This record gives sequence, C-alpha cells and structure tokens, in this order.
Amino acid sequence: MKIAVIGAGPAGLYFALLHKKHDPSLDISVIEQNPRDATYGWGVVFSDIGLAFLKAADPEFFAEFTAGHEKCDYMEVVHRGTHVQIEGNHFSRTARIDMLGTLQRACERVGVRIEYDRRIDDVRPIAAEVDLLVAADGGNSAVRSQYVEHFLPSFERRRNKFAWYGTRQRFHPVSLIFRETKHGVFIAHSYQYSPDLSTFLVEVAPETWERAGLHRATDEESRRYCAEVFRPELGGHELLSNRSRWFEANVVKNERWTHENIVLIGDALRTVHFSLGSGTRMAMQDAIALHKALADRPAEIPAALAAFEAARRPASSSFQSAAARSLDWYENVAAKLHLDPISFAYDYMRRTGHVSHDDLKQRAPHFVAAYERQSPDCQPRRTA
Ligand SMILES: Cc1cc2nc3c(=O)[nH]c(=O)nc-3n(C[C@H](O)[C@H](O)[C@H](O)COP(=O)(O)OP(=O)(O)OC[C@H]3O[C@@H](n4cnc5c(N)ncnc54)[C@H](O)[C@@H]3O)c2cc1C
Repeated sequence: MKIAVIGAGPAGLYFALLHKKHDPSLDISVIEQNPRDATYGWGVVFSDIGLAFLKAADPEFFAEFTAGHEKCDYMEVVHRGTHVQIEGNHFSRTARIDMLGTLQRACERVGVRIEYDRRIDDVRPIAAEVDLLVAADGGNSAVRSQYVEHFLPSFERRRNKFAWYGTRQRFHPVSLIFRETKHGVFIAHSYQYSPDLSTFLVEVAPETWERAGLHRATDEESRRYCAEVFRPELGGHELLSNRSRWFEANVVKNERWTHENIVLIGDALRTVHFSLGSGTRMAMQDAIALHKALADRPAEIPAALAAFEAARRPASSSFQSAAARSLDWYENVAAKLHLDPISFAYDYMRRTGHVSHDDLKQRAPHFVAAYERQSPDCQPRRTA
C-alpha cells in the first residue's frame, strides 16, 4: 500500500511514524514545503491528559519525546500584579523545533521518506498515484482549498490580535498575565519550554491595539511596545522575535472530513484556539485515530476513513465548543478585571463551562479553599 502525507507538522509526522512502525512493508512518504529545520514560533505545551494519549500510543516515542521537557505542576494567573497559584495543573513544555526534530528522526529510523522544500499546490496527480492521501498541511491547507466544494470548510476569524514572541525570562509555571494600560488590557500567555527560553504570546483586543497605535507600528516597534507593557514580569529581559507579527485566530471546521482517498487531519481539519493550548495534542490524537482505524481495516480504506471520523468527530466538536467559550472569555476580559485576584482566577478556570466547582476542588483544593473563604456564594447561610 502507498500512502502520501502532505505536511511535516506534528499531525503528518506522527501518523507516518505510527503507521510505518505498525506495518514496515507500507510505502509512506511525507512532503513538506519548508526546509528541514524551519519552524514558526517557540514552544508547545501539553497537559498531563495530552501526554497520556502519546504514552499509550507509542511508549518508545513518548520516552524520547519527553526526555528533555520542562515540567511544572501548577499554573499562575497574574491579575494586576498579584500572582495566584492554581495547583493540580500539570504542564509539560518543549521547543516546537525539538518536537519536530524528534518526530523527523523517529520517522526516518523506521523508513518513512520525508521530502523537504516541495510545496504541493495541485494534489490531484499525487492522489491518483497513491492508495491514501493524508492532508496534514495545517490551518491554511492547500488540499482543502483545492477540494473546497467537497470538504465544505467554514472559517470564523476572531477579533483579538496575537503576536507570538519568545523571551529569556523564565516563566516556570504556565503564566497568564493581565496588564491594564491607559489604552486597555494586554494579556500574555507565557511558559518556559527550555532551560533558558520561554514562549510569550501577547493578546490584545483590536480597539486597544489601535488606541496604542500598534496598527501603524512596525514589527520592531510592536515588539518593543509589548516588552514595555510587561516590563515588571519580564524583569529587564527583552522580547525575541521569530518573524513575530500580529495575527488573528481563524477557527476552521469542515462539514466533510474525507473525499475519495483523501482525508484531512490536524489543523487542516479543525483548529482549536491556542488559549486552550491543545492544537498539537488534537493533531496528534487525529494521527493516532487514523492509524488505528487503518490498522483495524488494512484493506478497506473507505471503511477505515469512516471509522476515523466516527471516532474523532465527538471529541473534536466538544473541544471546539470549549475553545469558543474560552475565546469569548478572553475577548470580554476587560469587564472581569474588577474582580479580586482569586475570584478572577476562579472565573478563568471555569471559563469553558466544562469544569465544575467540584472538579476544580478535587484538582486544586488549596486554591478552591482560598476562593471559598472569601466568596459570599460559598459562605454558610445564616438565619436571623
Ligand atoms: C500562536 C500559536 C501558538 C500555539 N501554541 C500551541 C501550544 O502551546 N500548544 C499546542 O498544542 N498547540 C499550539 N498551537 C497550535 C499548533 O501549532 C497547531 O495546532 C499544530 O501545529 C497543528 O499541527 P498540524 O500538523 O496539523 O499543522 P502544522 O503544524 O501547521 O503543520 C502543517 C505543515 O504542513 C506544511 N505545509 C502546508 N502547506 C503545504 C503544502 N501546500 N505543501 C507542502 N507542505 C505544506 C507546513 O509547512 C507545515 O510544516 C499554537 C498555534 C499558534 C498559531
């Protein structure tokens, strides 16, 4: 059987690895538009739940992948300079380039061919030559665009602006920093992912962005402006750029996931907003599900693709609805800043509607005890 994968991101590489390992006789190639060591951005973060999927799917890759991860078991919400710690939030972090490097090496060891520097704009000739074509070509998928009338994608461009920087300041816990300026609120999503580097993703509402003059600013001016806003947290460190420029989140969904022998996976299939930090995890879970569906039905590609979709659609929809609520929360955060730091952090933790008070209490008993001590809603009722 011949399989071509378009895109050497986490979805495409992990699928190729799992499936080639399962059946070394398969002919699997991956085609990537970028050179081998190119990557955008800085680090990626996985929750303990995200990592558990990887461990179960391929313990050998898991051990190699997580060997150098930065780990922390609590997170911080920084509200008007007050740091609120929330325990029971286990996050493992690594550089995106290291993650891709580990995947590339693991793929090559098992005999997957990876062809770099080749962009596919017309997928038809390749799809005609192979038994299965896996479109793992990311949020702007060219394969999806070519078959737009079959996949029926929908796009929702969200309003907030983002710029993805790095910094040498080390944010040991995943830290969400909310800073008020005279123009409005700036948010930083930050976490250390290597011994000396942290991701620092800045988020800002479009009105605040314009009032601050960032719509007219160069990339360099924006970088310096953001470093100034977060000067207390950055402790004198500058923000580092890796082609960092302002962008908006684009939420992608597809009515159909497959067309003939082509299947979409990862961000090509659906994007999950990075405020949930789970895009890579979802992409890799797609890879696991597609591999399992094919392994269970090796000679029946249509049935395997139907099984893949049946396995993944419910989780995908549920994650996207949680991500939408999370986006709404961030887009309306200015109205919440009057809350005291603990109530603000509590509101943040429950923003998706998927975490109940009791869930949170189980996971973060000290944090919830602090909240209960001060919240009028949690006081024992007194009768006159
Ligand atoms: C600012 C930001 C922060 C994020 N932070 C996190 C985080 O902390 N944790 C997390 O889990 N996720 C995070 N994500 C999301 C994460 O990056 C994606 O969800 C994940 O990379 C999706 O993997 P993928 O393999 O589907 O797509 P991608 O990683 O986008 O890979 C697609 C690949 O296909 C290649 N390609 C595209 N078109 C073609 C073509 N026509 N021909 C050949 N090759 C092509 C691309 O070059 C790319 O290498 C973040 C995303 C952003 C934008």
